[in-house]
Amino acid sequence: MAKSAPRLAILGAGPIGLEAGLYAKTLGWPFTIFERGRIGEHMLRWGHVRLFSPFGMNATLLGKQAIGKQKLGHEFPADDACVLGREHVAAYLNPLGELLKENLVGETQVLKISRQDLLKNDEPGDLKRARNPFRLLVRDKQRERIETADVVLDCTGVYAQHRWAGAGGMPAPGELSAETHIAYQLEDILGERKGHYANRTILVVGAGFSAATTVCNLAEISLEHQTTWVIWVARTSQTTPLRRFANDPLKERDRFASRANSLATRTDDNVEYSPATVVDAIEYLGQDKGFKVTLRSPLKTRVVEVDRIIANVGYSPDTNLYRELQVRECPASLASQKMADAVALAKVSDPLRMSGLGAEALRNPEPNFYILGAKSLGRNSNFLLRLGFEQIRDAFALMAGNPNLDLYAGKK
Ligand SMILES: Cc1cc2nc3c(=O)[nH]c(=O)nc-3n(C[C@H](O)[C@H](O)[C@H](O)COP(=O)(O)OP(=O)(O)OC[C@H]3O[C@@H](n4cnc5c(N)ncnc54)[C@H](O)[C@@H]3O)c2cc1C
Repeated sequence: MAKSAPRLAILGAGPIGLEAGLYAKTLGWPFTIFERGRIGEHMLRWGHVRLFSPFGMNATLLGKQAIGKQKLGHEFPADDACVLGREHVAAYLNPLGELLKENLVGETQVLKISRQDLLKNDEPGDLKRARNPFRLLVRDKQRERIETADVVLDCTGVYAQHRWAGAGGMPAPGELSAETHIAYQLEDILGERKGHYANRTILVVGAGFSAATTVCNLAEISLEHQTTWVIWVARTSQTTPLRRFANDPLKERDRFASRANSLATRTDDNVEYSPATVVDAIEYLGQDKGFKVTLRSPLKTRVVEVDRIIANVGYSPDTNLYRELQVRECPASLASQKMADAVALAKVSDPLRMSGLGAEALRNPEPNFYILGAKSLGRNSNFLLRLGFEQIRDAFALMAGNPNLDLYAGKK
């Protein structure tokens, strides 16, 4: 790395990219944040969803103080308030973006990253690779161009790459051609998308918190629009699909889990839940004609006709971005292998307890390339912002060669 402060390229202006930018700014290091959409783009896409961790866990003192200094009288949500995604962007991420605006390039996508004059297979795992700066191929509205940097922080998240509804995680026959008619993200069912779902038959695939949110919201509109019918299928054989944690301090999380589990087990609602069921085929019948879907469980295969499909089956990191760099990936989660090992070693099932994974977990064979934020865990959905703030602290301590550097604790 350069002897003077390294030049950082930060990919993504989500909560973690912005917070990393603030860290660099506070240290006086040169940096550029590249964001392909808006500030907090992914969070805005699920802006109607309430965060289940309270605001105090989703913001840092460093961030609050920096915003407070620039915008006197700026009001933050209370530390114990669980706000909507869009409220978090308005109250915290947009003011952070404003603070960093001179170093933030919006509507600019990073397409590929490589090393100047080095191929992926040159100098395997050798720190000598760091002598050559990173080259980033970026695209804005007008053109493609090359940017360079000494350090890359990949904070691009996972929300934009959905996984597939089909059995075994690959597209079911017919799913690829039906993709644009299937909702893979979190639909605003109680708000602007209500008309699209009310009084329809909807197939919901998945058993995570996103699917639970979707099913709970569909059940709510069915109270008013009584011919709304939900066919909910999940791969798990559990009759109560959502995992709950004893004495869960995240009340919002537990509220959804418990409501969704009760919808799965009750028979007097407009929700029909089928565990141990996978999607074998999807046929899109055309505009306003819905879909024919083949569902398979150990006991039977059946074909259902539905108007809508919501596949909340999780997300996957875009690993193509760094294909030309030396990153060892965990074959199961697509996180970096070191991070996946640290997560496995931590042996915690509740993301709330995932902490202190250590700076070493962030290192890659490619020197000075760090994956932070939701993408750092790959397909594992146990990421919480609080873990991302720890990763920022640890990555900067590594870069500075000073394990005691911790701006969150006021240690320079
Ligand atoms: C519905 C939902 C609810 C959640 N609730 C909570 C919660 O309550 N508490 C909690 O701690 N966590 C929660 N999470 C998990 C996690 O904190 C969020 O996903 C969070 O947004 C992750 O932040 P991030 O900065 O890592 O990535 P993201 O927020 O995903 O940000 C990535 C950014 O990178 C940009 N980008 C992507 N690719 C490129 C590219 N090639 N070039 C340039 N820019 C690019 C995107 O546009 C985006 O702005 C939730 C997640 C979801 C999906």
